[in-house]
Amino acid sequence: MPMTNGLRVTGLRKRFGEIEALRGIDLEVPRGQLVGFLGPNGAGKTTTMRGVLGLVAMDAGSVTWDGSPMTEDDRHHIGYMPQERGLYPRMMVHEHIAYMGRLAGLDHATADGRARQWAERVGLADRGNDLIQELSTGNQQRVQLAVALVHEPELLILDEPFAGLDPVAVATLSEVMAEQVARGASVVFSSHQLDLVQDLAEHVTIVAAGVTRATGTVTNLRAHSPVRHLEIHWNGSVPNWSPPDGEPRKAPAGVSRFVVPADSDAAVLIASAAATGAVGAVSFEPPGLDDVFLELVSR
Ligand code: ATP
Repeated sequence: MPMTNGLRVTGLRKRFGEIEALRGIDLEVPRGQLVGFLGPNGAGKTTTMRGVLGLVAMDAGSVTWDGSPMTEDDRHHIGYMPQERGLYPRMMVHEHIAYMGRLAGLDHATADGRARQWAERVGLADRGNDLIQELSTGNQQRVQLAVALVHEPELLILDEPFAGLDPVAVATLSEVMAEQVARGASVVFSSHQLDLVQDLAEHVTIVAAGVTRATGTVTNLRAHSPVRHLEIHWNGSVPNWSPPDGEPRKAPAGVSRFVVPADSDAAVLIASAAATGAVGAVSFEPPGLDDVFLELVSR
């Protein structure tokens, strides 16, 4: 087993004329891991993905697969779902998935079988003979997912795969991603839906302005935040209480919310609150991924 398995991107740089799109991107997606690749609009996520795929030449940095520079042959084992969907409008659903399977090196019979299997998996079993152009945007996206998976890739790169999907398709895609990880694939996806990312991905890499700002487990990144969220549900009237270094936040009736320094002693705060009113329930937690993200990208 090589030391570094799966995808490793180091120090990627890319300039488009005046625009420095990438100024030092690091990204690791080990085999059997699902990584959320996050960043504001224009941060460089798509450019990084295109760099890994060899669709854009990079100015500097390295892309390795299982510890060696990524080759054209390695790239045949990548499944890619681009942000700008690129299907042939006049092809039929089944035909399209099978065709892309053959392009990726499958024989006729295997491509045909897989096309059937994936059309069914993404909920398009009865649309096999429909033209791509007759499908809704969300259903075209389902086809795009099937196309990315038809050759059982070792690395799956999904650029905003959840955008525009209905809740049923979101659930299917989440399941499919988990299955791919379970069979040992490396899966990286970008998304602006951070609640979804927090539920789905254990690991995230956050980029801003072409630079990797943070990488790690969601739990760790949240734990490293300099603040905590304190929430108190009161039984009866809400007293005029606030923690010494707390910043009040909007809260529903009967509830107080504060942002306090991470090193606050929760027990002391709760005791102090309980001395002023009847405390029902209390929570003291690191901020969610959305707050961590905002904090990191605004630095
Ligand atoms: P989003 O979340 O909006 O999809 P992103 O993180 O994927 O954003 P990129 O699409 O990688 O960001 O863009 C990074 C920067 O590079 C942007 O400033 C973009 O305008 C620029 N850029 C990307 N591709 C090109 C290109 N072919 N020519 C010129 N500039 C480009």
